[in-house]
Amino acid sequence: MLLPVSEVRQRLLDALSPTGITRVSTTEAYGSVLGEDVLAQYDAPSFSNSAMDGFAVYAADVAVATKDTPVILEVAGDIPAGSVQKTSLKAGQAHRIMTGAPMPDGADTVVPVEETDFNYRDLEAQLPENVAIFSPSVSGQYVRPRGEDFKQGEPLLKKGQRIRPQDIGMLAMMGMSAVAVYEKPRVVVMSTGDELLPIDADLTPGKIRDTNTYTLSALIEAAGGEIVRLGIVPDRFEIVKQRLDEAAESDVNLIVSSAGVSVGAFDFVRAVVEEYGELNFWRVNMRPGKPLAFGSYRGIPFMGLPGNPVSAFAGFEVFLRPALYKLAGQVNWERPVMQATLREDVESDGRETYLRAQINQENNRMFARLTGHQGSGNLYSLVRANGLIVIPAGVKRISAGEQVTVWLLDR
Ligand code: AMP
Ligand code: MG
Repeated sequence: MLLPVSEVRQRLLDALSPTGITRVSTTEAYGSVLGEDVLAQYDAPSFSNSAMDGFAVYAADVAVATKDTPVILEVAGDIPAGSVQKTSLKAGQAHRIMTGAPMPDGADTVVPVEETDFNYRDLEAQLPENVAIFSPSVSGQYVRPRGEDFKQGEPLLKKGQRIRPQDIGMLAMMGMSAVAVYEKPRVVVMSTGDELLPIDADLTPGKIRDTNTYTLSALIEAAGGEIVRLGIVPDRFEIVKQRLDEAAESDVNLIVSSAGVSVGAFDFVRAVVEEYGELNFWRVNMRPGKPLAFGSYRGIPFMGLPGNPVSAFAGFEVFLRPALYKLAGQVNWERPVMQATLREDVESDGRETYLRAQINQENNRMFARLTGHQGSGNLYSLVRANGLIVIPAGVKRISAGEQVTVWLLDR
C-alpha cells in the first residue's frame, strides 16, 4: 500500500523535536528562528510627534486658510527633532516643528512647510516672527499620536518565526542587542554507492560523479541548516557503520543519506541502520521519490532519500525541508503555493506527481510548461526548471488551459 504524502510528512514531523536555544548578537540573528516572544516594552511612538517639517498649530485657527487669503499666525517657538523641552501653544500661534519632534501641548495638527510662506529651501533662513498659512489642516493630520504603531505589552514578534530584516529592526527598537534563537540544525549528508566518483575524478566506464551530496548540502544550507559532510561512502557494511558512528559522535541533529535504502543487495546503509538503530520503510504515494526511509541511528534521526538526483531533490522539498524547519524551531513549515495555467497537457499515473516546469508571467498571468524529459535521473530538466507542477493524487491528466498548483523554487 502506498502512504499519502501528507501522512508521511506528519509522521516525520511528529518524530522530530526542535534544537536547543542559544543567545546571539542581534546583528547575527538574521535568518535564525526566534527562540523567545518579544513583547512591546513601551507605547510607540512614545510621545506624540510631527510627521512633517512644518508648523504645529490649532486646526481651528487655519480652517479658513487659502492661498489667496492666508491666515497669519505668530511664530512663538521652534521645536527641532530630539527636543526634550516641554512646549505649549496658545491659540493664534504656531511653532515651527521638525519631523519626529514632539508636538507642543495644545497643538492638534501640523501644516507642512510647503503650505506656508516660509522659505524652507533657504538653509540660512531665520525663524520668522509670523507665518502665512495657505491651506487648512484638519485636527490630527500629520500628527503621529502616542501608541499609534503599537502599545506596551503587545506581542511584536513570536517565538518560532524566522527573523527577517524588519524583525531585526524591531529588536533594535526594543533595545535588544542579543536575542534567543534556536541553534541551527546540524545535518550529516552522505552519499553511498560504489558507482560514485568524487567531484574531481575523471569519468570512467560505469561510474558517475556524486551530485546528490552537493545538491542536498546546498538545499540544507539555504534552508538554515549546517552541513557535516561525510562525502561518498562505499558499499561496504563496515565502512558504512564506521562513518555513521563518526557522524553520531559529532553532535548532529539529523543524518541524511541518499541512495542505498531501497531493496537492492548492496544497500548497506539500510542494513547498518536496521541493525544498530531503527528504520521504517515507507512507500510514498508520490512521483518521483516513492521510497523513503526514516528512523534513527544511535538516537539521531535518520532520513534516507532515494538516489536518483531528481527524486532526492523532490524528497528534500516534500519531506526534508519541513523536517528541517521543525528541527530549527520554525512553527510554520507550509510553503507558499501559486496557481498557473498549463501550456500543455500533463499526465500522471495517479500518484501525487511533481513535474519540473518553467513558470513564467505573461500579461499578469502565470503559465507553466514542462522543461523536458521527466525521468527521475535527469538533472538537466531540473536545472532548466524554476518551479514544480503538483498534480494531486488520483488525478491522471490535466489539459492545457487548466489551472494547476505550482511551487516556485528560485526564491
Ligand atoms: P539507489 O537508490 O542506490 O538504487 O540509486 C538510484 C540511482 O541513483 C542510481 O542510478 C544511482 O547511480 C543514482 N545515484 C545514487 N546516489 C547518487 C549520487 N550521490 N549522485 C548521483 N546519482 C546517484
Ligand atoms: Mg546504490
